Amino acid sequence: MKSLKKKTLGIFSLTCCEGCQFALISDYDDFSHLLHLYELKNFRLGQEENLPGPFDVALIEGTPESDREFKLLREIRKQASIVVAMGTCAHMGGIQSERNQLPKSYIKKNRVRAVTDVIRVEYMIPGCPISHKEAINTLVDLYWEKVTKLPDYSVCFECRQNENECLLKNNKACLGPITRGGCNSVCVNGAEACLGCRGPIDQADFRKIKEVLKPILGEKDTKNWLTIYGDLEKIHKNQITNLNE
Ligand code: SF4
Ligand code: SF4
Ligand code: SF4
Repeated sequence: MKSLKKKTLGIFSLTCCEGCQFALISDYDDFSHLLHLYELKNFRLGQEENLPGPFDVALIEGTPESDREFKLLREIRKQASIVVAMGTCAHMGGIQSERNQLPKSYIKKNRVRAVTDVIRVEYMIPGCPISHKEAINTLVDLYWEKVTKLPDYSVCFECRQNENECLLKNNKACLGPITRGGCNSVCVNGAEACLGCRGPIDQADFRKIKEVLKPILGEKDTKNWLTIYGDLEKIHKNQITNLNE
């Protein structure tokens, strides 16, 4: 069989827990099939010898925190035809962006910025951590110059299919109604609330969710919930909810 011409891939990690890279290789057989399509030029977690760009595709996880990381990020942008924000940190700031709720005098110098705040990004893979399957599909689609469509329904849709008892109906907080599905409502299946890690769906109704959450959580905690993985309302307003269009 004639082999396909490979594209070049770089996988980069900024400040984070590196959980998205681990999710990407969590089924190694699956991941190794990608190596028929891509030459893995740079992947510090997975190989010792790494090469500089150019890259056809660069995946980036984490948030830039130091001068070195900001420089690296801009360098990757220059060297890559397509940049993909991999995971919630890169897409929305992630859990570390809770820091942005601290007093202004502190965050002036230390504001957490998502990759999407700093450089132009073509696509994103949502989630903390990402779904292995969604990431592999994205890379296969990018090879064939297609766009991976993300689910445009909320977590509630899958949650109902899984026949979970609704937390909101039982007066417990949950961000399922405004959050993009595709995780099979994994947290609610395990009796935990959805905290919005996959980001808001296009049709998220923030007025409504605040109205529902305030009597349960109070004003302050409603705000806290809506900023756990990034300022969801701001992200929605700035239309970086779904880059894959
Ligand atoms: S999105 Fe979550 S799992 Fe991925 S790197 Fe950030 S903190 Fe880790
Ligand atoms: S528990 Fe949460 S995700 Fe499930 S249906 Fe209720 S609000 Fe939606
Ligand atoms: S249920 Fe919500 S917080 Fe949990 S993985 Fe899905 S989107 Fe993320």
